[in-house]
Amino acid sequence: MNTSTRRAAFLDRDGTLNADYPDEEWATKTTPEILCGVTEGLRLIQRIGYDLVMVTNQYTIGEGIISEEAYGMFTAALLRRLQFVGVTFTAVLYCPHSRIVDCECRKPKPGLIQRFFTDNPDVDRERSVLIGDSSVDILAGSAAGIETIGVGSAALQGLGTYRCDTLIEAAKWLSVREYGS
Ligand SMILES: [Mg+2]
Ligand SMILES: [Zn+2]
Repeated sequence: MNTSTRRAAFLDRDGTLNADYPDEEWATKTTPEILCGVTEGLRLIQRIGYDLVMVTNQYTIGEGIISEEAYGMFTAALLRRLQFVGVTFTAVLYCPHSRIVDCECRKPKPGLIQRFFTDNPDVDRERSVLIGDSSVDILAGSAAGIETIGVGSAALQGLGTYRCDTLIEAAKWLSVREYGS
């Protein structure tokens, strides 16, 4: 295996890293509630050697439910809290477009993932993985030609190459595959 090649773990944000809410409620949310097993899971995924890349649909911006600033502040708070426990994201990519806009970046389209590969040609697609809690995440990963792991409700729907409840389980699965036992 060529260990000098980078690889990426693409992670959905809402419902995968932090609690998700009905669209209207996002207007009142300023503090991320990090889900069970997420900090430990991200630390392990990072230690295995994956670059962490957030890929998130934020059509609430385009549809006027939250402002771009509110999105930025919430994400910055999440990144700060993760940084504090030793987790660093390489990139954060988001789609701000309304659902009536036919953009290339909103999952299930693979635009955000493709953008990262284009900007980082040394990242090996074959060794990269997407982890998310909804069908659009899993479809975007598949469309980008990478392996997928369904967590939470995606797992309940039977989506993903591998399925589990929480991020720590996904991380342990990747770890066992990498190192055995
Ligand atoms: Mg989600
Ligand atoms: Zn978009």
